[in-house]
Amino acid sequence: MEKKVIALIAHDNMKQSIIEFCNDYKDILCNHTLVGTGTTSKRISEATGLTVTGYKSGPLGGDQQIGASIVEGRTDIVIFFSDPLTAQPHDPDVKALLRIAQVYDIPIANNRSTAEYIMHSDLLEK
Ligand code: PGA
Repeated sequence: MEKKVIALIAHDNMKQSIIEFCNDYKDILCNHTLVGTGTTSKRISEATGLTVTGYKSGPLGGDQQIGASIVEGRTDIVIFFSDPLTAQPHDPDVKALLRIAQVYDIPIANNRSTAEYIMHSDLLEK
């Protein structure tokens, strides 16, 4: 099995949801390399014991770093629980990340059900 690099990002109101998701899929996630934006990665590591390497916090450029890692071929999957109900100061960065994931045909889940489909995909093992 080829280990995938999975990037985890959640806006503040969604951090509890991504922690619950990571807990529920811990057995699968632990087989892959996990990275994430600063606060999200820290919170997931503390709550689940998973090793998540942190980039900068999202508003300080973490989303852009993950975008750059996609461009450089270093990220395979993005799980991004964005907040659909709250304006974000770094909205341009969020848009840029979504765009670059689309350009490079990287699976990107913006909600739990899509993230679950990815977790259950045979492609995760390829
Ligand atoms: P954070 O960034 O994990 O550092 O909170 C997430 C974001 O707001 O993009």
